[in-house]
Amino acid sequence: MTEETPEEVLYCQWHPKVETALRCYQCGAPICSRCARRTPTGYICPACRKGHLRRFESFKNYDYIVVAVTALFLGGLASLIPLIPMSGWFIFIISPLAGTMIAEAVSRLTGRRQSRHLWKIVVAAVVIGSLPLLLFDAFVGIAAFMNGNAWGIWDLFYTLIHLPLVIGAIVLRLRLR
Ligand SMILES: [Zn+2]
Ligand SMILES: [Zn+2]
Repeated sequence: MTEETPEEVLYCQWHPKVETALRCYQCGAPICSRCARRTPTGYICPACRKGHLRRFESFKNYDYIVVAVTALFLGGLASLIPLIPMSGWFIFIISPLAGTMIAEAVSRLTGRRQSRHLWKIVVAAVVIGSLPLLLFDAFVGIAAFMNGNAWGIWDLFYTLIHLPLVIGAIVLRLRLR
């Protein structure tokens, strides 16, 4: 048996006076409880954490504005789809396609930088951008139906189904890579 090494005393790399027993799971640096952040894989030091953030959160501040404005505009444009006369069941193809194109557009405009919140911003902007036309279209559909035009209910159906189809495609494309 080799001689027993006494319990090693570690000092936090960021607070050299603070004793600690924790080590960063990634780089092995000693860290105190104030510096350590618990992650699903273990404690992580401030330096490695910043590296993580940079990898996962490379979004720049103006990216959010670019994304919001683009998604607002394209979402509004896409809300014309249910208004296309006789768009019918094609909406199940066209609307998800529009969603994919919106996702692709914002992704390109932001240099494919990443953010956990990207899909939420896009969805919110698309909803807001589509509401005016969709509400108008739904109103027209209901009014037509009330006046005895059976197609009014289909108009309403396509209007209601459009947004979930677009959002579904956006979430599929932008959430989790
Ligand atoms: Zn580390
Ligand atoms: Zn510390």
